[in-house]
Amino acid sequence: KLYNMVQDLKGNIRVYCRVRPIFNSEMDGVIDYIGKDGSLFVLDPSKPYKDARKTFQFNQVFGPTATQDDVFRETQPLIRSVMDGYNVCIFAYGQTGSGKTYTMSGPPGRSATEMGINYLALSDLFLIYIRTCSSDDDGLSLPDATMHSVSSTKDVLQLMEAGEVNRAVSSTSMNNRSSRSHSIFMVHVRGKDTSGGTLRSCLHLVDLAGSERVDKSEVTGDRLKEAQYINKSLSCLGDVISALAQKNSHIPYRNSKLTLLLQDSLGGQAKTLMFAHLSPEEDSFGETISTLKFAQRVS
Ligand code: ADP
Ligand code: MG
Repeated sequence: KLYNMVQDLKGNIRVYCRVRPIFNSEMDGVIDYIGKDGSLFVLDPSKPYKDARKTFQFNQVFGPTATQDDVFRETQPLIRSVMDGYNVCIFAYGQTGSGKTYTMSGPPGRSATEMGINYLALSDLFLIYIRTCSSDDDGLSLPDATMHSVSSTKDVLQLMEAGEVNRAVSSTSMNNRSSRSHSIFMVHVRGKDTSGGTLRSCLHLVDLAGSERVDKSEVTGDRLKEAQYINKSLSCLGDVISALAQKNSHIPYRNSKLTLLLQDSLGGQAKTLMFAHLSPEEDSFGETISTLKFAQRVS
């Protein structure tokens, strides 16, 4: 319980930032400083050095050398609070190629040390939660979604892999493995508390579609509609979390299907963690700033 008390002091919404390594060594990076206290300084490449620095503050910042284990260790207490009856939502935000899928699932063909939060979270819950039960329908209306009961981490891994295959993937100018869809992994937990009462909670693990603005001159028709839909759902998510952060009385869940689906794990007693992912290269600076602003708005 101590873990959760520590977490509670931080409030219900927290924002972690993760910066992936630079892949193109020819290119300059824009990250100037990463503090242990969650501060992040970036440099605007279009400005002279003395005017270039912009500073941001988060609950944590993970740099390019942070391992999956480093990230998971800072997420584990939140995940374990699901077993105390809290609903939890963890989502990965950022432009395509910034490392969202890496954080949530791991790289393609991942090794044991490269497993992402989805897998580590479920193994952790199975480790501390011995009995499993069937998860019947909770009245969630998702036309193509199916609910499966699981009894081991292996079952979960298989379901996750099937989900990855099903996920709509189409190529964009950014990255031909780019995912133009949100991936939502919903875990329903039901158990008995110490006094014999029923405990129900959910864990939502979300790998969002890329947040980059799509150039209208490059896409048309269905692709343009899809891009507009993605942008709308992401901005609605931002609106909901920022309304929660400001403790507004009206929370605009109904403005998008994404926020309606995640409603149980956003707000109220639920705990929310956003990972803001950054691509450190100079040519991504515009998207980096927009990701940082989005993250700042909700923290
Ligand atoms: P996104 O899901 O945001 O589009 P990916 O997770 O697919 O981005 O990451 C893009 C590429 O960068 C992938 O090849 C991925 O394996 C790699 N990558 C991302 N983050 C890291 C990291 N922290 N360390 C090493 N490689 C990473
Ligand atoms: Mg991805």
